[in-house]
Amino acid sequence: MLENKVAVITGGTRGIGFETVRLFLKNGARVALFGSREETVNHALSQLKEENSHYEVMGLFPNLSNEEEIKKAFQKVYDTFGQIDILINNAGISSATPLTSYTESELDKIINVNIKSVFLCSKVVVPYMKQIGGGVILNTSSMVSIYGQPSGCMYPASKFAVNGLTKSLARELAPLHIRVNAVAPGITETDMVSALPKEVIEPLIKTIPMGRIGKPMDIANAFLYLASDMASYVTGDILQVDGAARS
Ligand code: NAD
Repeated sequence: MLENKVAVITGGTRGIGFETVRLFLKNGARVALFGSREETVNHALSQLKEENSHYEVMGLFPNLSNEEEIKKAFQKVYDTFGQIDILINNAGISSATPLTSYTESELDKIINVNIKSVFLCSKVVVPYMKQIGGGVILNTSSMVSIYGQPSGCMYPASKFAVNGLTKSLARELAPLHIRVNAVAPGITETDMVSALPKEVIEPLIKTIPMGRIGKPMDIANAFLYLASDMASYVTGDILQVDGAARS
């Protein structure tokens, strides 16, 4: 579904991002995965190369809140693959901190990783997409961007911002033939979730009509659809992939 396409996927070293990198490679894309550290990037790359030595995949670890580093990273992707068709802004951190315990540095970190990175990567990628007459920007939102959550208010607030960027950029970039959408996963089986205690997870599963939490592949499949030409008239949408866990 992605033959001849080049994708950049942030937060591609594990969890939802890694599964999406793998699925895009299987579907013929060339992929640049971005991670936070050289070590985790190299680990992800060697795992993928072990699975299939023909995969065309590279890895970089720019600071996602620094425009200059991001510019250099996208230029390296362009120099290596010759084009950039798809960007997935997936890197993110969660938070469960109660309001009165938030420090200013935690607040800044969430804003930088979850919002500023989406803004900067989107800004930097647009000229590359313009050059080839269009492209696709996809963001990882969350079900909490619709309902909020009882503690850690800056996490849902950051995902509300991601939805705002998605809907606004879809309108701003439509004349350039750049589609912008988000996937809003429900609770999904990744490191982010395995850090939570059983007593928190089990009651949550009971509230999900489909009776299970999501798998990274459930989310990767949604990204594949939205990145492909099958979604050619879909833009500005927040696609909920959450087993109908709507409360
Ligand atoms: P994860 O913790 O397994 O992976 C997070 C990824 O983000 C990693 O690749 C990591 O390298 C990257 N990252 C984190 N901090 C970074 C930083 N400072 N700079 C650069 N990269 C950084 O988490 P995941 O569950 O796969 O989460 C991926 C996305 O999905 C996030 O945006 C998250 O908010 C969202 N999400 C997850 C769930 C869930 O239940 N797992 C639900 C809804 C939304």
